[in-house]
Amino acid sequence: VDQSPVEPLVVIGGGPGGYSAAFRAADLGLDVVLIEREAKLGGVCLNVGCIPSKALLHVAAMKTEAERLSVAGLRFGPAEIDLERLRAFKDATVNRLTAGLQHMARQRRVSVITGEARFVDAHRLSVALADGREQSVGFSQCIVAVGSAPVHLSALPTDPRIVDSTGALELPLVPERLLVIGGGIIGLEMATVYAALGSCVDIVERADSLLPGIDRDLVGIWGKENAPRLGRIFLGCSVESADAGPAGVSVRLSGQDEPRTYDLVLQAAGRRPNGLALGLEKAGVATDPRGFITVDRRMRSSNPRIFAIGDAAGEPMLAHKAVHEGHIAAEVAAGHPSAFDATVIPGVAYTDPEIAWVGVSEAQAQESLRSVSVAKFPWSASGRAIANGAAFGMTKLLFDRESGRVIGGAIVGPNAGDMIGELCLAIEMGADAADIGHTIHPHPTLGETIGLAAEAAEGRCTDLP
Ligand code: FAD
Repeated sequence: VDQSPVEPLVVIGGGPGGYSAAFRAADLGLDVVLIEREAKLGGVCLNVGCIPSKALLHVAAMKTEAERLSVAGLRFGPAEIDLERLRAFKDATVNRLTAGLQHMARQRRVSVITGEARFVDAHRLSVALADGREQSVGFSQCIVAVGSAPVHLSALPTDPRIVDSTGALELPLVPERLLVIGGGIIGLEMATVYAALGSCVDIVERADSLLPGIDRDLVGIWGKENAPRLGRIFLGCSVESADAGPAGVSVRLSGQDEPRTYDLVLQAAGRRPNGLALGLEKAGVATDPRGFITVDRRMRSSNPRIFAIGDAAGEPMLAHKAVHEGHIAAEVAAGHPSAFDATVIPGVAYTDPEIAWVGVSEAQAQESLRSVSVAKFPWSASGRAIANGAAFGMTKLLFDRESGRVIGGAIVGPNAGDMIGELCLAIEMGADAADIGHTIHPHPTLGETIGLAAEAAEGRCTDLP
C-alpha cells in the first residue's frame, strides 16, 4: 500500500480568481493550499482595483449629483473634500471585504501561506516567505491565478508625481492639473474621480477614440456629458518624453509644439500578465507571445495538472471573468466535467455616466458583415430618465437577423452596469426581441428601456413615456 501523503491542490494568487478557485475546491472536498505574496487576500480587485475605485467613484457621483440637483431646486453649499476621511472610507470598504475572505478561508480549512511562489519543477513550488526563509510546497494539481500588473511607460522618469492606478487610488493629493495617460476603462474611471474632486484633467490616448473598441455613439454620449468637466483630450497621440522638475512634470505629447506641465501624471496604459515571473518553463507551462498562459476550455495549461485563470490567462482582464474561470478550474481539478462555456462577458466603465456593453457591438457587426438589426431606445423618451436628469442616456440592442436572437447590447447612463445583467441573461438564454419585449418591466424604471428597445426592434409602437 502506498503510504505517501497525497499532495494538496495549490492555488497561487489570492485575488478574485484564486480565492474563488480555492473556496470552490475546498467545498468540493479537496485539500487546498492558497499562496499569496501580499499580507491581505483579495488581489488587485479588492485591494487596489475594483473596490477602492468604486468607493471613490461613489463619492464622486454623489458630489456631481448634488451639483446637478440645483436644477431641481435642491441647492447645497460648495462640497468640501476631506481627503483624510475619504481615504479612510475607501480603506474601510476594502478592509471589510479582505477580512471577510480570511474568515471564509478559515471556515473552509484552506491553508493560506503568505509568500511568493515559483515553480521548481512540475510537482513542486518554492515559496519565498516574508522572513527570508524558503518553503518547499508539493502539489498534486496547481491553479495559477497570479493576475496582472500595470505597464510602466519607458518614456516616463521615476518620480512620486508619476503614478499608476495603485498610486492614484491612494489619493496622494488633489492635483490642480492631472494628466491621465490612457483613455481605457481604468483611465476614465480615475479621470472621473479626480475631475469630481476638482482637478483639471487632461487625457491622452494613442487610439483615435476614448474607450477603443466601444461603439462611437456610446462614447459620444459620454464625451458630450464630460466635455464641461474635463480639460483637453488628445486622441491619436502619445507621450514622447517627460521631465520631472520643481514646477511639475513637463510632458511632451506627439504632435504638440509645447510641453504641458502637470502636478500629477497617471499611467493607465494597460496591464501585463504576471505569469512570466513564475518559472513556468520548469513546469512545462506554455505562454503566448504576450505572456498569457495558454489554456483550454477546462482552464488546463499545456501541463494538464496545472490550470491558469483570470488576468494571467488572457483578456478581458475583469474580475467576474476570473471568478468564473476559478470555479471551472476547481471543478475540473475535483473531477467534474466543467468547461468555460460563457457566450458573453460583460464590460462596464463605471464612469459618469456609466457605459456597459455585452456581446457583439455595432462596429463588430459591420466589420464582420454579419446581418444584424439594431434597436436604439433614447432615454429622452423615458419618463424615469427625464425625472432623474438622465435624458442623455441610451439603450441599444443588436439582434441576429437570421435567428432573431439578441446577440449584443449596450447601455449608457446612470446604473448601466447594474442593468446590463438582464442583457447577459437574455443572450445566454437565446432570447429574441419578443421574449424581451413581452417581459413586463417595472414602470417607471431605467431598466424598462431594455424592454422598450426590444419593442422597437419588433416594430411594435409603445405609448409609455
Ligand atoms: P489579481 O486580482 O491580480 O490577483 C493576483 C494575486 O496574485 C495578487 O494578489 C498577487 O499579489 C498574487 N501573486 C502574484 N504573483 C504571485 C506569486 N508568485 N506568488 C504568490 N502570489 C502571487 N475588474 C472588474 O471586473 N470590475 C472593475 O470594476 C474593475 N476595476 C478595476 C479598477 C482598477 C484600478 C484596476 C487596476 C483593475 C480593475 N479591474 C476591474 C480588473 C480586476 O481587478 C482584475 O481583472 C482582477 O483582479 C483579476 O483577478 P485575478 O484573480 O486574475 O488577479
